[in-house]
Amino acid sequence: MQIKDVYSKEYTCRCGKKVQYGKVTDNDGNFITEDGQAPNGKLGKDDNRLSAAVDVGTTNLHGCNAKNVTDKYNRLSQPSLGDGAINSGKTSSKPDVDWKDINHGETPLQKELREGYEEINSLAYQLTVKQHPGISDQDNVFGQIVHAKSLVLTNLLIAKNLKKLREQYNLAHKLE
Ligand SMILES: [Zn+2]
Repeated sequence: MQIKDVYSKEYTCRCGKKVQYGKVTDNDGNFITEDGQAPNGKLGKDDNRLSAAVDVGTTNLHGCNAKNVTDKYNRLSQPSLGDGAINSGKTSSKPDVDWKDINHGETPLQKELREGYEEINSLAYQLTVKQHPGISDQDNVFGQIVHAKSLVLTNLLIAKNLKKLREQYNLAHKLE
């Protein structure tokens, strides 16, 4: 899988990071289309080419949509039975994406951030389940409540750390 034609406009992902959108191609640079047809040449949401969010200034799939895009790519890039019959000598077009590799390249800071993020999200999720037993966790509203709770928890964490810093500072100055 490759990404090309990255559009310069930046968008803010739901995770808060800036992303840009590009078009997904196979390893030979052929566009992947959502409907399996040839690219229709249309623009915007009528464009049938598969698009994907990438981290700004790169062609690296942005984490939030990486799994979704890869799943779609795997599904859409499979040669149809017809192609297989015609091109009997064609080798499999299995994409060279291995999800397990992602954690290998994780820096200590990324690991710390990811673990903190997961911890806060998981607590927000559990609180939402407890306080809103009537809402399915597949519901959009549920997601919004989890998001709101994550922000509150983040603020509490910041307040806690600031308090700790101030205590350490006061203690250091008393000892002088
Ligand atoms: Zn994101």
